[in-house]
Amino acid sequence: MPFDEAFMKEALIEAELAFAKREVPVGAVLVHKGEIIARAHNLVETLSDATAHAELLCLKNGAEVLGNWRLLETTLYCTLEPCPMCAGAMIHSRLERLVWGAPDLRCGAHGSWVNLLDAEHPIHQIQVTSGIFKEECAALMKDFFKIRREEKNSGKVVR
Ligand SMILES: [Zn+2]
Repeated sequence: MPFDEAFMKEALIEAELAFAKREVPVGAVLVHKGEIIARAHNLVETLSDATAHAELLCLKNGAEVLGNWRLLETTLYCTLEPCPMCAGAMIHSRLERLVWGAPDLRCGAHGSWVNLLDAEHPIHQIQVTSGIFKEECAALMKDFFKIRREEKNSGKVVR
């Protein structure tokens, strides 16, 4: 879709905010009827919460805005292929469409590790588009882990 790139840019801005907080740089925005109603970035370290993924936080915020856990007519833009936890939450929320950027080879639930999103589901099927700004989304992750490795090698204290 033509507007996918514009919204993915917003998700990338969220990912950069995570990067600045020394969080794994993943960002997401939720779009309802052409407007961003929620945005979030990964906060696992900040909140000491393994479930504080950008996508999950964004779905929660979106449900609050809509006053409904059913996120009908919404599209989630996420810089990284979602993990099984987030993909499950998307199915539970009846998300209409998902657009993701770079693959997550370790935890991706749209084919990289498992494929929950293409698997036929008896209640809800999400339309998925992948690879929007793939390079940019992946570069942010690469830079992040490169810096972490360098810090580790130089003996700097890393939490
Ligand atoms: Zn996740």
